[in-house]
Amino acid sequence: MDERAMVLDATGQALSPTGAARARRLVATGRATLVCEDPLIIRLLHIVELPAPPAAEPSAGTGQRLLLHACCAPCATYTVGRLRNEGFAVAALWYNPNIAPAAEHDLRRASMRRFADRVDLTVTEVPGYPADEYERAITRCPARPGRCEACYRLRLGRAAQVAGAQGFDAFTTTLLISPYQDQDLIRGVGTEMAQEHGVAFYFENFRRGWGERGRLTREYGLYRQQYCGCASSAVERGA
Ligand code: SF4
Repeated sequence: MDERAMVLDATGQALSPTGAARARRLVATGRATLVCEDPLIIRLLHIVELPAPPAAEPSAGTGQRLLLHACCAPCATYTVGRLRNEGFAVAALWYNPNIAPAAEHDLRRASMRRFADRVDLTVTEVPGYPADEYERAITRCPARPGRCEACYRLRLGRAAQVAGAQGFDAFTTTLLISPYQDQDLIRGVGTEMAQEHGVAFYFENFRRGWGERGRLTREYGLYRQQYCGCASSAVERGA
């Protein structure tokens, strides 16, 4: 089967994936630029108008407390608003020991704190910078895709644990908004962690809000990172 490629429009909005061969043709003929080789992501040179996201189901989260694992402030912008519109009482968790180096981790955390203040969001932080927990988690799988799966397991596992211990009805993650992340894998890991800790995993395809995320990030003046988080991803992106 042909390898799949992720496709973004000129604003960074995620479109339907396409075959790798077609994606490479678009790049070769100057109709798109290459964003990333692994996973394969291209960006079209034009803007694609997509239908507006369906209105939030106001009752989807009514009366439910939801813990949102926040990977960064920009990904929390659209996600927090969307979940609140669905009726969830949202609190966030900061636990991202994958981010390297420490200065980058602290920069992203500070940005998250500023955003949380702006929108009156309570954030529970796992204290410090436990990078050793991430390093241990990926010891046996230092390359993609195993490395990312281990990274998701670590962070979603902690989110499920905190959600269960603090009596939340469900948990989810801002990682679900990013076209650069493996959404199916995140869903599988989240569901598994939910069973392990006795709390529901809330899945939604937040990618439809990717364009809005960009707009809100600029509006709030948030720090915009250039790579996913770990040292390997910085090298892969040439950051
Ligand atoms: S690329 Fe991103 S998801 Fe994958 S291991 Fe690194 S930080 Fe985690």
